[in-house]
Amino acid sequence: MTVLSHGFSWIDLQFLGRRHAIATAIVHSAAGAALVDPGPTSCLETLELGLHGHGLRFADVRKILLTHIHLDHAGAAGTIVRAHPHIQVFVHERGATHMAEPQKLIDSARRLYGDDMDRLWGEFAPVPRENLIALVGGEEVEAGGRRFEVAYTPGHASHHVSYFDRASGLALVGDTAGVCIDGGYVLPPTPPPDIDLEAWRISLDRIEAWSPDSLFLTHFGPVSSVRPHLQTLQHNLEHTADIVRRTLAEPGTDDERSRAFAEALRHEMRKQMNDTQMAAYPVAAPFEMLWLGLARYWRKKGVSG
Ligand SMILES: [Zn+2]
Repeated sequence: MTVLSHGFSWIDLQFLGRRHAIATAIVHSAAGAALVDPGPTSCLETLELGLHGHGLRFADVRKILLTHIHLDHAGAAGTIVRAHPHIQVFVHERGATHMAEPQKLIDSARRLYGDDMDRLWGEFAPVPRENLIALVGGEEVEAGGRRFEVAYTPGHASHHVSYFDRASGLALVGDTAGVCIDGGYVLPPTPPPDIDLEAWRISLDRIEAWSPDSLFLTHFGPVSSVRPHLQTLQHNLEHTADIVRRTLAEPGTDDERSRAFAEALRHEMRKQMNDTQMAAYPVAAPFEMLWLGLARYWRKKGVSG
């Protein structure tokens, strides 16, 4: 089932051959189509096949709306635009420069992923400046025959925006509303370098203030019980942040602390899910990255360890 509501659908990008890890939302009408978060270049063929399955081609895509510029969301944008230079790319102003000149972003990702970089993500090509539209939040964007309200929703990333179509009640929230695969544990994705719990809380309030009927998560798909979902995410965010803080107070290396965190998280998740369900989570959000992002947040606040 890939139809969200009239004019909305989505594609499972089958990231690393796994179902339900990364999704791209499609907005389409007779006026053309728009993609929300096209995913990494390593999934480009799957994206194109998925478009064909909806009777669409990249020639029909007029706009790409990015929630943020992390590689699993925005990696393919430059490659797509190079082949289809009519496409406009919308992104928060803090992310726009990195999309035009991605070298710094690529270098810092390489520090995290090392030799796995290419296998995981593939190319990150620049988007020419003339194709980029910078957002700050508060504006309206027309795409795929719909009008989207844009909100600045940092916390997961300092350049994160969310999009709301009031007519259908659907909010496309990227990673701000967490990871939830097949109705399982609501996991806060907390990779480095921008995690900010205070900003994240405000962003969740901002999303809730739209009173959406449903959310669309990149990892993974539609959520209809919006308020309980957001409350659970807030709770789990505080909980995982607490676990990381406790690991920082323990002696040992960061590797050991990260492993202790992953073990505690797995224990928590196992209360709600079986092993098959759990297996998809580290693909969408590697646990060692979650520790790194929260450890960085606490250390910036002066928590030692
Ligand atoms: Zn992200």
